[in-house]
Amino acid sequence: MSEKLLSAFTSLGVGGRADVTVVRDTFDVKEDDVILGRGTNVVVSDLGVGRRVLVVRCGGVETAGTRLTAGGGLPLSAVARAACASGLSGLEWAVGIPGSVGGAVVMNAGAFGGCMADVVSRAVIKTPCGEERLTAEEMRFGYRSARLPFGVVTRVTFDLAAGSAADALALAAGFNARRRAEQPSGRTAGSTFLSCGGVSAGYYIDRAGLKGFRVGGARISEKHANFIIMDEGGRADDFRRLADTVKLKVYSRFNVRLKEEVRYIGEFR
Ligand SMILES: Cc1cc2nc3c(=O)[nH]c(=O)nc-3n(C[C@H](O)[C@H](O)[C@H](O)COP(=O)(O)OP(=O)(O)OC[C@H]3O[C@@H](n4cnc5c(N)ncnc54)[C@H](O)[C@@H]3O)c2cc1C
Repeated sequence: MSEKLLSAFTSLGVGGRADVTVVRDTFDVKEDDVILGRGTNVVVSDLGVGRRVLVVRCGGVETAGTRLTAGGGLPLSAVARAACASGLSGLEWAVGIPGSVGGAVVMNAGAFGGCMADVVSRAVIKTPCGEERLTAEEMRFGYRSARLPFGVVTRVTFDLAAGSAADALALAAGFNARRRAEQPSGRTAGSTFLSCGGVSAGYYIDRAGLKGFRVGGARISEKHANFIIMDEGGRADDFRRLADTVKLKVYSRFNVRLKEEVRYIGEFR
């Protein structure tokens, strides 16, 4: 057992203690484990987590023609950049997303008109009962979601297209420049809320006058209203209370119910 602060494993830099196991090759999965990738889409309770936390770092990359298979724990951005650099097209939109390959499958991560559902053909999931191999159809991708059996996504296969490395890298660089221009830096979990009926959550939050609004050490970014930034001393509880307040204010002003894209882990008061 290795007790660690989960704040070290999340992009928000929040989260209390848990029994953490970093998994790479050989490991077992139990029914009540909590699974973390790069921790870029989660808000982990300040109270910690009373269950074992598996931090996924399964690696390895193989290519066969236009097919690329990557370990579920690898940074998606690095895999996408390597694909572009070797003349494989289809993951340009993913350069700059800070999550893992496995986390991106679970979330059906996407940007700039592309998403995992467009390019993933297969995944291997280690469940408490053994390994399952799923096709894209069996993963039932939806908007920022997939319906998977509980377990660790250990390997993901992408079906990409042959293209020009220079074109792919230039497209990725353009997307990244837009990311830097439109999104804030700092401790965030990316978009806090899902789009609602095709309208971005940021539109409502901005129109409700909430840019810069703060609860404790958590505040709505001035640059992008759907991003919550954690300032010095900010806690998961501040994030949760701020997100709840935003939901109430947007509902009372526009009659729109925002739903979190981020996932809460552990107990919140
Ligand atoms: C600055 C910033 C920009 C971002 N931009 C985008 C964007 O453009 N588009 C977008 O879609 N998202 C974006 N995100 C959100 C995030 O990076 C993605 O959702 C990413 O796919 C999450 O991957 P992760 O490894 O960090 O998952 P985590 O946050 O660790 O986990 C998310 C969920 O996936 C599960 N999970 C993680 N890894 C595995 C695994 N190997 N096996 C099984 N379950 C797993 C967890 O249990 C949890 O339910 C952004 C985040 C930040 C901080």
